[in-house]
Amino acid sequence: TAKILQLNQLTKHFNMGKGQILQAVNDVTFHINKGETFGLVGESGCGKTTVGRTIMGLYNKTSGDVLYDGQNVHNLDDNETLHFYRHMQMIFQDPYASLNPRSTVKEVIAEPMEVHGLYPNKKEQLDRVIQLLEEVGLNRDHADRYPHEFSGGQRQRIGIARALALDPDFIIADEPISALDVSVQAQVVNLLKNLQEEKSLTFLFIAHDLSMVKQISDRIGVMYLGNLVELTSSDSLYENPLHPYTQALLSAIPIPDPDIEDTRERIILEGELPSPINPPSGCVFRTRCPFAMDVCARKKPEWREVEKDHYVACHLYDETLNKTDHSDITIN
Ligand code: SF4
Repeated sequence: TAKILQLNQLTKHFNMGKGQILQAVNDVTFHINKGETFGLVGESGCGKTTVGRTIMGLYNKTSGDVLYDGQNVHNLDDNETLHFYRHMQMIFQDPYASLNPRSTVKEVIAEPMEVHGLYPNKKEQLDRVIQLLEEVGLNRDHADRYPHEFSGGQRQRIGIARALALDPDFIIADEPISALDVSVQAQVVNLLKNLQEEKSLTFLFIAHDLSMVKQISDRIGVMYLGNLVELTSSDSLYENPLHPYTQALLSAIPIPDPDIEDTRERIILEGELPSPINPPSGCVFRTRCPFAMDVCARKKPEWREVEKDHYVACHLYDETLNKTDHSDITIN
């Protein structure tokens, strides 16, 4: 499988003034293969949206690299950036906020085509708009209406049609279903899956809800306080979560089948999410980790491949550590 996107130690800090630096994203490294869905998961404020926006070039990076098809997306000139957006598009959480309320659906969908000078012939442009509406389960009767006349799920379909207007290869979906009713969420997920198959799309699917991400993702990265803490295939993350934070997130998901008795131990995280302006020393998760050891405050855990294609940043898996640091640890 060919890599289409590579992040190398991507770091994004925001200067908040008065000497305060918000460490939104620290040293994040992962790649995405062509045609796969990569899920990026974590609580709000963990940096996942900043990762998405920095990949799109909407934010400048602080350090590190984002390579799309081998090209550094932060070194593009205006023309190259415009061309880049024909390959990569974004879908947002709140479709209404991302759609101009004064434009008709037709105008909303046609706008990217106009920016890129596609379909100078209006009739051909309209045909393309109608084709896109049909691809997302709407039709030509919707073209002259306004976004506010639609339900949340329909508006997200309009947002998807707009993202598809330039026929991209890669879509960053930033919490595309979080604002929707549960019944509508599954429909939108199915639509995205079908479109992926038809158009060989690659997805970066950003979400805080692990249960939905499992259904759609091939591989999943888990973020906590600006750091990637675990990365592996969707199956292995669910069957064998290694990072204590991932274990806690998973233990909070109810088992959907009422006939199966839930015997799992629920891991409750103590304490508040620390501020990314003043993150803890060493391991950022240590203030809430049930397994924290002395070394966790002193040393940032390395990103290591513990099993094949299963990466984790946690001292529990560092075999080179002084054994006394492990003495009172049990992992179940
Ligand atoms: Fe917990 Fe330490 Fe592992 Fe961090 S490095 S997750 S504090 S055991």
